[in-house]
Amino acid sequence: MENKQIPLMELPVASTEAEERSWGEDAEQAPKPRFQPVDREQLFWRSMNVERLIAEDHPARAIWDFVGKLDLSGYTRHARAVEGFAGRPLLSPQLLISLWIYAYSRGVGSARAIERLCEHDPAYQWLTGMEVVNAHSLSDFRVKHEKELKGLFVQILGLLSAEGLITLERVTQDGTKIRACAAKDSFRGKDRVEKALEAARQQIKVVDQVSEEETSRRVEKARQRARRERVERLETALKQFDKAKSEGGVKDSKEPRVSMTDPEARIMKQPDGGFTPSYNVQVNTDAAQGLIVAVEVTQQGNDLNQLTSGIERIEQNLGKTPKQVVVDGGYVSRDNIVAMESHNVDLIAPQCDEEGKAKSNYDSLGISREYGKSQFIHDASTNTYRCPQGKTLHLKSKSKRDSKVVHLYGADMTDCQSCSAKGQCCPNCKKGRTIQRIEELPQVDKFRQKMETESAREIYRTRSQIAETPNLWIKAKFGLRCFCVRGLRNVAMESIWACLTYNVCQWIRLCWRKQRAVALAIA
Ligand code: SF4
Repeated sequence: MENKQIPLMELPVASTEAEERSWGEDAEQAPKPRFQPVDREQLFWRSMNVERLIAEDHPARAIWDFVGKLDLSGYTRHARAVEGFAGRPLLSPQLLISLWIYAYSRGVGSARAIERLCEHDPAYQWLTGMEVVNAHSLSDFRVKHEKELKGLFVQILGLLSAEGLITLERVTQDGTKIRACAAKDSFRGKDRVEKALEAARQQIKVVDQVSEEETSRRVEKARQRARRERVERLETALKQFDKAKSEGGVKDSKEPRVSMTDPEARIMKQPDGGFTPSYNVQVNTDAAQGLIVAVEVTQQGNDLNQLTSGIERIEQNLGKTPKQVVVDGGYVSRDNIVAMESHNVDLIAPQCDEEGKAKSNYDSLGISREYGKSQFIHDASTNTYRCPQGKTLHLKSKSKRDSKVVHLYGADMTDCQSCSAKGQCCPNCKKGRTIQRIEELPQVDKFRQKMETESAREIYRTRSQIAETPNLWIKAKFGLRCFCVRGLRNVAMESIWACLTYNVCQWIRLCWRKQRAVALAIA
């Protein structure tokens, strides 16, 4: 076969688009395309300016600046690594606090996730100066310094007050349920917990006899720690049975059940109607700029007993009593109305829907609306009622219930038995129709009169936006729908971290961005 030589000058050169397309028509003659190679074996050196890893207006810079203004000496009071002595240097509290605040603001609540992000995320690399911070150090730091963390929250409130962002003219309080780090089926009765505790203690003894050569030292240490923690959890669970019973919600005949995973969590009703192991996080928000001024975690699913302690927390944090507090119906009780009066706090809250309650009672008793209580006229001079048929109801009894006095009036049995309206007024009563008149405390009457006014109702209409925004922000933006830690003390600390982060984010939005823009414009 003749070997056809192509002269050098005639070699095809794909220089124009038209010529490239022509290769497709003669596939045999077309040379193979060349691709840029992927070389993963090469050694590559790259110069990096850490300071330039993030933009000038990046929130990580704001957080670093803000934390730098705080007094963090409490964190290092017991530090063993000090200048002039040998030993590994400590991670600075400014770095660890900044890392946690930045992580929460990005919806990261896991120490391991932060450790991984330190390896490749520019903002974390900028904060750490390209170092990787160990997950254990981060995790321990989050829950180790309770007193210092509370102090940090108060310091931040002080800075925000100094900027004029907190006024305490009006605050709100709202509770939100956050899921505990425990499954619903981890709840057991006392017998099962006692057996599990006995087994866990036995396991520690048995495993202590196993030779260390069988496993690596590090793995064995981790296992020992896990077994010790299980015994501690079960011991806490045993202590929680009496507490759970005294808290109520458990019928006397029913044995309380406690979670073996997080013994201090309680089954609470959720807004969607379901029941889940949770904690109730109480958040107080200042209406001026929507900043959180106090936070507390409780094991009670009900908000009714949380209002007074909320006001006291604000007083502790800011040294001042708020002028007005706006809450929803879950906080309304006679005790709370009286307590707010004694604290000199103006309470704005919905009134109890007594008319609605009475209507549902009438329906169940078969009383028609035309013969409701409002149709009976009270005569103060004789202290009697007159019914729609003109008959008199006399005072039968007077009793004290809680902080109110209940007056009971009744019609004569003979009047009612012979009345043509009996079927509509009191179809089932055998002794004659009765009416209750409740004598309220003066504070309750005053509160009711106030809440009848349009100005008070107008204020109440602002409640949901102020009170629910931080709760929504914490759950939706920070991803704190479920706690990452266990136990009341630890979840309280995680709640403070989230609220503190929320306040710093608001400070960035309200102050830092504007100040930074002005500074950059001048530069
Ligand atoms: S039933 Fe008795 S209370 Fe009712 S309207 Fe008749 S008389 Fe009056």
